Amino acid sequence: YLELQGIRKRFGNTHVLNHVDLQIREGELVTLLGPSGCGKSTLLRCIAGLTEIDEGKILLEQKDIVNLAPRNREIGMVFQSYALFPNLTVVENIQYGMKMRGASKEERHKRSEELLGLIDLEDKRDAYPQHLSGGQQQRVALARSLAVQPKVLLLDEPLSALDAKIRKNLRTEIREIQKTFNMTTIFVTHDQEEALILSDRVCLMNKGSIVQQGTPEELYTTPRTEFVARFMGSYN
Ligand code: ATP
Ligand code: MG
Repeated sequence: YLELQGIRKRFGNTHVLNHVDLQIREGELVTLLGPSGCGKSTLLRCIAGLTEIDEGKILLEQKDIVNLAPRNREIGMVFQSYALFPNLTVVENIQYGMKMRGASKEERHKRSEELLGLIDLEDKRDAYPQHLSGGQQQRVALARSLAVQPKVLLLDEPLSALDAKIRKNLRTEIREIQKTFNMTTIFVTHDQEEALILSDRVCLMNKGSIVQQGTPEELYTTPRTEFVARFMGSYN
């Protein structure tokens, strides 16, 4: 469904991504896990088209999207810091992308109502982002990404700015919403517990490469290297 072939990216002399290959099935939730600076965000930005790649192919349903502008890639992205439009209400934020794409008023209304229900924020529809908690803002950011019905959803540490309890609730919610839409999702985190709980498949990265991928159980119980074992906490 989504396939990365031989992705390379350098910033100056630093090789940030070294020939990354990755295949993701439709409806699958894959986590990219790895230490700070290993290239997780860069890889997501390359897929979204926010960073140009030096080499490789990005195939979405067999079609190479490398030369498409970000807005034409049908890929949604949610960042670590909530990047909602501060001067728009919750419902206006959710409808923003649909409006840009020329969706009718009825269509926008129908879709945003559905999403407001899903993120359980019907009573905040007319609130501005500054009056929402961090967890609520991230739920709106998620709804805004889903509103335009992307083919792939990229989540770059969407929970890392939240405190522990909200974080745990929201990750369950994200998983439920992801399953409801059968949304093909890449979830970036550096939290191995989060990766183990959330994903269909885990890809562990180090220094710009995927060092091992498999089901959460596989990575935990049969780490192929010392690095994987340590990172997955297999020794505990
Ligand atoms: P973290 O867990 O801290 O978010 P990450 O795995 O997301 O880390 P990236 O943000 O992808 O890591 O960065 C990978 C490497 O690329 C880092 O060494 C970083 O300094 C470098 N890098 C990222 N963006 C740029 C840029 N625009 N210019 C130069 N170097 C960059
Ligand atoms: Mg990052």
